[in-house]
Amino acid sequence: MIDVQFQGIGMTSRRTRDRLVTRLREQGISNEKVLAALRDTPRHIFIDEALSHRAYEDSSLPIGFNQTISQPYIVARMTELLLEDGPRENVLEIGTGSGYQTAILAQLVGQVFSVERIRNLQEKARKRLQQLKLRNVMFRHTDGGMGWPDKGPFDGIMVTAAPEQVPEELLAQLAIGGVMVIPVGDGGHQVLQRIRRLSEDEYQTETLDPVRFVPLLPGTVR
Ligand code: SAH
Repeated sequence: MIDVQFQGIGMTSRRTRDRLVTRLREQGISNEKVLAALRDTPRHIFIDEALSHRAYEDSSLPIGFNQTISQPYIVARMTELLLEDGPRENVLEIGTGSGYQTAILAQLVGQVFSVERIRNLQEKARKRLQQLKLRNVMFRHTDGGMGWPDKGPFDGIMVTAAPEQVPEELLAQLAIGGVMVIPVGDGGHQVLQRIRRLSEDEYQTETLDPVRFVPLLPGTVR
């Protein structure tokens, strides 16, 4: 549960966020837990003040370093896809960014392991999650293409930057019965994929919506 101090003031008002949830419903999001998490999470604290008046629009917005906070619809859609097979206990998130998707996940799964290659973004995200008193999250500054082997296998993997191909390391760290949601493709043409690991060496891939994410890049930035 998100702390009440963030509820009921100005643009964070319950009514503004209820409107966002109504729009998400109209666009086909139906998981009530996901909708409740988006309703209860103050998105404006994940955005620089100069843009925070746009926090409850359903659009992606710049967060610096050429990166963006994902559009609420896409956060809701990916979270719904991740949870469709049932509750998740330990989820790896690649691309913490602002930490908004991380905050949504933290309210819906057992434990979140979130990795980010840009140190500055990671530090800010960590503070925001602390502010919201979401404590079931561990952060790591690393190249997420390698996953987080010590903490795996994961029953959920959520990737919020697009590789041209699904990294082998991430497939290897997906538990049997686990689900990965990942945008795949180059800048011009990406699709959202859901990959289920059915057995030791059997994976099932569904190709879903066309999407636009920033690319998954190698290496780290201080
Ligand atoms: N879900 C985030 C989306 C941020 S954009 C949000 O809503 O705020 C994608 C993020 O992925 C960026 O912060 C980018 O720095 C990060 N990223 C890109 N390649 C990465 C990699 N190899 N490892 C970890 N993070 C990566």
